[in-house]
Amino acid sequence: SRTPIIAANWKMNIGPAEAKTFLAGLKNEFSCQCSKSCDVVIVPPYITIPAVMETLGDCKCIGVGAQNVSQYDNGAYTGEISTTMLNELGLAYVVLGHSERRQYFGETDAIINAKIKKTLAAKLTPIFCIGETKEERLGGKLEEVLKTQIVDGLKDLTPAEVETIVIAYEPVWAIGTGLTATSKEAQEAHAYIRGVLADTFGQATADKVRIQYGGSVKPENAAELMAQPDIDGALVGGAALKPDSFAAIVKAS
Ligand code: 13P
Repeated sequence: SRTPIIAANWKMNIGPAEAKTFLAGLKNEFSCQCSKSCDVVIVPPYITIPAVMETLGDCKCIGVGAQNVSQYDNGAYTGEISTTMLNELGLAYVVLGHSERRQYFGETDAIINAKIKKTLAAKLTPIFCIGETKEERLGGKLEEVLKTQIVDGLKDLTPAEVETIVIAYEPVWAIGTGLTATSKEAQEAHAYIRGVLADTFGQATADKVRIQYGGSVKPENAAELMAQPDIDGALVGGAALKPDSFAAIVKAS
């Protein structure tokens, strides 16, 4: 009974002008009377968010998210964006803990935890990303890595807060590589993640949390991944840069 959630993470692609073209293309693929059977989210670069909101207008069937947010309130933090500023735009989601933020921008579990708390306090929904590297998986550390990311990333949160969060399981070796986890590998990791949530926050909470899979999701593999019992949607990078392939993934779900 968890509603699937399919999100397009545009990463550092698609400026305001190109976003308008993308959304015009998406409109040709599916109409705004979309069913309530699936939540669709677009996560543009900060600077593209206003153009996306404006173009979507009254269409409430596509949600919008940010790719990051500051853990600080306001002040002398050059280059940062606050939750207050995101609230002013009226978007709904914030992607946090993406492996690219962890790898290239030094974000630790503690920083991500602070950002998740700020995001929840601002009544925004975190899409909290976790996942192991290839070395960690080959070294038998998959479960240990996921558990640490979950427990430290969600530290001090209440079960009521946790059940509102979306988790994205993105194995780092599958991101942008064309190497998708098999549906069996993904399902096993998702079931493990749900088990850690149950141990930490209780089974009722764990049953409510939506867990997306991310990492080389394409129209060709989306349906099989989405059919797994613990996979509740997808966080899509490369294949979400074209309206036709993103729409095909939404339809497959
Ligand atoms: P790709 O779909 O390009 O592998 O990216 C996945 C991802 O990182 C989404 O956040």
